[in-house]
Amino acid sequence: MSQIDSLPPLRDVIDSHGIAAKKSLGQNFLLDLNLTSKIARLAGDLSACDILEIGPGPGGLTRGLLAEGARKVLAIEKDSRCMAALDEIAQIYPGRLQVINGDALEINPLQYLTPPIRIAANLPYNVGTELLVRWLTPKEWPPFWSSLTLMFQKEVAERIVAQPGSKAYGRLAILAQWRCDARIALQLPPEAFSPPPKVHSAVVHLTALPEPRFPADAKKLEQLVARAFNQRRKMLRAALKGVAPDIEDRLIASGIKPTDRAETVSLEQFCTLTRNLSAG
Ligand code: SAM
Repeated sequence: MSQIDSLPPLRDVIDSHGIAAKKSLGQNFLLDLNLTSKIARLAGDLSACDILEIGPGPGGLTRGLLAEGARKVLAIEKDSRCMAALDEIAQIYPGRLQVINGDALEINPLQYLTPPIRIAANLPYNVGTELLVRWLTPKEWPPFWSSLTLMFQKEVAERIVAQPGSKAYGRLAILAQWRCDARIALQLPPEAFSPPPKVHSAVVHLTALPEPRFPADAKKLEQLVARAFNQRRKMLRAALKGVAPDIEDRLIASGIKPTDRAETVSLEQFCTLTRNLSAG
């Protein structure tokens, strides 16, 4: 294994700072610094960017991001046991790592960051999905970030990149793909983590598009898609009953058969239907 910095191996850092993994915080740490550097490279050119990292833990990905040349990393970590380890990293990269001890769901990081901003994280499943949905549904587009490089359990990663006609296709795919290019950049087996989780994981890389792929009002599209997939086994004429008195006609006018199910409707068709419904 090649050295990426002058700090001790992550296993020693975890031992010396007493950061035994806690289940309650979803702690499955990456210990291979070559792997964390590889994930950092997946985030793209970091040298001209500020990076927001959520959940740095003992700092494996943080070290990868800094070794790969990130201009600045702002790391938000809930577990105060990690602060001393993160401080050691800050000392060998003067002025480039700022750490906040707090809950990423409650902190607005914008005041600490200068664009362009990329986001990178290996987060617990629940927090990761909630933050992803927030990042994908900002008040204005383009958002404050230019790319997201995020570790998820494989099943969630597949939902983000899913295409119509597959079981994984749903609200998350539409939210992600409407205004981003989304792809699975790396798959990881449980053994890549300590302790190993029960499931496989994958890194998803999303790049914000300057404009949505197809025009539609964001709130209306989100509501329509949530409703359509809420009863994904039902035909759309039933699932969307009550959305408009003439919903069958509107489906047909949008190129959708009223007997189709949500999981076969393309992103473009959902946008067309949203515009049709907005037209009154
Ligand atoms: N990034 C490290 C790595 O790759 O080894 C740690 C990953 S571990 C899966 C998730 C990290 O997120 C833990 O360090 C955990 O304490 C932190 N975390 C969990 N919930 C959080 C929250 N709401 N806000 C900030 N950090 C959180």
